[in-house]
Amino acid sequence: MEKKNYDIEMQKILKENLALGKVPTLLLHTCCAPCSSAVLLRLADYFKITVFYYNPNIEPEEEYEKRKEEQKRFLKEFKTKYPISFLDCDYDHEDFQKMSQGLEQEKEGGARCFKCYRLRLYKTVQKALEMHFDYFGTSLTVSPYKNAQKINEIGEELASQFGVSFLYSDFKKHDGYRESIRMSKEYHLYRQDYCGCHFSFLERLAKEEQKSNSLLN
Ligand code: SF4
Repeated sequence: MEKKNYDIEMQKILKENLALGKVPTLLLHTCCAPCSSAVLLRLADYFKITVFYYNPNIEPEEEYEKRKEEQKRFLKEFKTKYPISFLDCDYDHEDFQKMSQGLEQEKEGGARCFKCYRLRLYKTVQKALEMHFDYFGTSLTVSPYKNAQKINEIGEELASQFGVSFLYSDFKKHDGYRESIRMSKEYHLYRQDYCGCHFSFLERLAKEEQKSNSLLN
């Protein structure tokens, strides 16, 4: 698919709605409080947002609960023009396990991750359709470890399949990721050191081991 600047695509959507005097509803999938912070800061004046927490990729379950509780705490503390709602979803970890079968050896950023983005966006668009949201979107593009091109391509495909508008984004533009680090400090947010699944946890351990071995040699 053609490479686009998805930040510019998002700006167009914001401007169009502003010109029409509209404040549309947005079902925003978020992966964790730190990533959501900079994203919500950027969007909160333009949408009536519901944060959708659907992350069956996160392991173990205690970690999933910890990230979710931190997301809820941040929403309570973060003051916005329009109130932000929170919509919880089932953990559904078996769905992630089934999806990742055969892709266990993929590196972070590879084919398993593309399916993981799709799994989460699929549930988001389904819910957005069911609850009549104007847009659906995700905070995932704020991370420099995620493939924003792929996320937007999946979002676009699901938007045409389900007939719900996708909010294009590349939230790491304009220092979005750095802003999420700053806000995490301001709100004392728990920042995990691996993406979420068991495979990313093992990858992080292997990198640490490599680093300490190279220091010893
Ligand atoms: S590394 Fe992250 S994005 Fe990739 S499959 Fe694991 S949890 Fe999903």
